Amino acid sequence: AKDAGKNCYYIYDVEKDHQRYERFSLGADLRKAIQKDELVLYYQPQIDASTGEVVGVEALVRWQHPTAGLLPPDRFIPLAEELDLIIPLGEWVLREACQQMQAWSKVGVPRMKIAVNLAGQQIAHERLIRSVEEALEESGLRADQLELEVTENFVIRQPEVTVGKLTYLREKGITLAMDDFGTGYSSLSYLKKLPIDKLKIDRSFVKDIGVDRSDESIIKATLAMCHSLGLEVVAEGVETTEQLSFLTDNGCQIIQGYYYSKPLPPSEFMDFICDSGQL
Ligand code: C2E
Ligand code: CA
Ligand code: CA
Ligand code: CA
Repeated sequence: AKDAGKNCYYIYDVEKDHQRYERFSLGADLRKAIQKDELVLYYQPQIDASTGEVVGVEALVRWQHPTAGLLPPDRFIPLAEELDLIIPLGEWVLREACQQMQAWSKVGVPRMKIAVNLAGQQIAHERLIRSVEEALEESGLRADQLELEVTENFVIRQPEVTVGKLTYLREKGITLAMDDFGTGYSSLSYLKKLPIDKLKIDRSFVKDIGVDRSDESIIKATLAMCHSLGLEVVAEGVETTEQLSFLTDNGCQIIQGYYYSKPLPPSEFMDFICDSGQL
């Protein structure tokens, strides 16, 4: 038993070392990646289930790493936050997303909103407003075509800083969406004090439709509340027909998820728009 214990410890330590090494080497690479144009955005359509039309799109960052391949955000966003790289990374994402949407509009893609994720540190940062305004000015994209996604925990933790800035952005015509709704600590009543237009129901609830009655109840309650507060609502992570019917039956019209499409590189997103008859 003693040997087994030693063994376990040894394995654990190697794993730790490996993680430490990976973080170290990825961290150094990430610094350069932002300058070297190795970051790319994928675009996931948001569909109006009643018409099948694309009504919005979320930009999701990936890192085309020279040796490790295409890395998902979970592999480097936390690292970027730790290394103070989230500000330049976030600014790159904002600029790129606005430019791409504007370029699509110019070739005839119907006017729709592009949603960009904001990290907590970006919202707290003094440059937030300036970087959003710069991204709009440089691209020529209209403010009413930009949507910013924020997560509830950050807003709850820093109400004073956040609410003022978000209110300012909203007054400029930008849409604000509450991301991952239901995973944090905000109460339903608190929501109406926040300057938001839209709410995204988290995949952790959607995936248990048909499986877990309490998740279904939470979704129904959330939808009822959104309707009474006049908030738009999007369901995330919708994969099956059963999930889709439950959501539309309960009044959730806008759907994002693999059921319709995974996040796509720009050219495939264009194909998707064409296939949906919108171009
Ligand atoms: P998120 O904002 O909640 O984005 C939705 C995630 O769910 C995406 O993962 C998307 O690919 C995935 N997803 C969408 N539909 C389905 C589905 O039907 N089934 C399943 N299993 N998954 C689905 P992704 O692209 O790996 O992004 C993960 C997280 O990384 C995002 O979660 C977001 O929090 C963060 N992230 C992505 N891009 C950015 C960014 O530019 N800035 C910041 N700060 N965070 C970002
Ligand atoms: Ca999001
Ligand atoms: Ca989300
Ligand atoms: Ca559950």
